[in-house]
Amino acid sequence: MPVDPEPAVWASRTSVQNRLVDDVLVLGAGVIGLTTAVCLAEAGLTVRIRAAQLPQATTSVVAGAMWGRGPGVLEPADRIDAWIQSTLLDLTALADDPATGVRFARGREATREPTAVRPVPGTRDVRRCTEVDLPDGFVDGYWITVPVVDMPRHLAYLEDRFTAAGGQLEHATISTRDLGTVPVVVNCTGVGARELVPDPAVTPIRGQHVIVTNPGLTEFFVEETDEDSWVSFFPHGDRVVMGGVAVRDSWDLTPDPLGFRDGAARARRLLQQRERALEMLRRLNKEVYMFSYNGEFHALRRRADQKDYTVRLQQFFDHFLKGAPEPDWMEHGIPYIQKQGP
Ligand SMILES: Cc1cc2nc3c(=O)[nH]c(=O)nc-3n(C[C@H](O)[C@H](O)[C@H](O)COP(=O)(O)OP(=O)(O)OC[C@H]3O[C@@H](n4cnc5c(N)ncnc54)[C@H](O)[C@@H]3O)c2cc1C
Repeated sequence: MPVDPEPAVWASRTSVQNRLVDDVLVLGAGVIGLTTAVCLAEAGLTVRIRAAQLPQATTSVVAGAMWGRGPGVLEPADRIDAWIQSTLLDLTALADDPATGVRFARGREATREPTAVRPVPGTRDVRRCTEVDLPDGFVDGYWITVPVVDMPRHLAYLEDRFTAAGGQLEHATISTRDLGTVPVVVNCTGVGARELVPDPAVTPIRGQHVIVTNPGLTEFFVEETDEDSWVSFFPHGDRVVMGGVAVRDSWDLTPDPLGFRDGAARARRLLQQRERALEMLRRLNKEVYMFSYNGEFHALRRRADQKDYTVRLQQFFDHFLKGAPEPDWMEHGIPYIQKQGP
């Protein structure tokens, strides 16, 4: 008989097996898992992510987030600088596209401690803060321009890129028993690696942020310190991410208003000095306007800003004291999105 069914049977078994077994299983859907999975899927591999928390519920989504060297991140010393620089190259490429959530932003990095902060090599437009740039209690700092990342948007962008490359994302908590026959597993479980591996050397640092409506900020501020409480704020469009705390060895994910009060209060004080004055005057039924100039703090330093402010002040007095027509900005204001860059 010329009939030989064997090859057909084997061909069918092989194709079923290929559909069931991926080339790579990535564990975790934070920024590390998604980035890893995008790179592998776009290189042509069949990739599946399994994650106990989906991207918008991970630790990654709450980060500020600013490129640079995190406080206390010291090891492995010989590799960290190279990672920082290659991350800068990738973020620079992503910053061309607003959909990535990555952009270059200007802000201050400052310290209350007498040891001077030193911007990481690769930081753009570095300028040492003068006294007027530093909030009360701060002794040194720099104006810097660095990549900052709107994390909810960035994770959504990575997830879209991953699925567009054919990747599959599944919601599942995995233990080493569940790994089966997948040829390659990439562990991107963050602090979850402590239990999964298990690796007792992995310990958590609890962070906490408060998110408020953006009153018109464009620059970020971050305190450089190794202490467990610091002040920072990062504007991302219509919201500001304010921090922060860093509590070593705490697994607790419950928001803690008391534990956060120092950092939040300090961030709020920096943010709200202007808004409080504005609000008080409005309550007293005073005619009041707030000017917010990019890159300026207590006093206006740039000549263009000084001239702009002088003209508006003149228009204000001309209108109220001399009956001149009301300029358009007094009636309609200037929308936040029309604010010019520095
Ligand atoms: C308040 C705060 C501010 C920060 N600010 C900055 C900043 O400005 N700049 C900066 O660079 N970094 C910052 N960080 C640090 C940064 O957020 C983290 O280093 C980074 O997000 C870690 O990413 P990850 O993908 O490794 O982990 P995670 O985002 O924690 O993701 C881990 C993933 O693994 C999954 N997982 C865990 N265990 C298992 C399991 N057994 N099975 C399946 N899935 C599992 C989780 O569900 C999750 O999906 C900040 C962190 C915090 C908390």
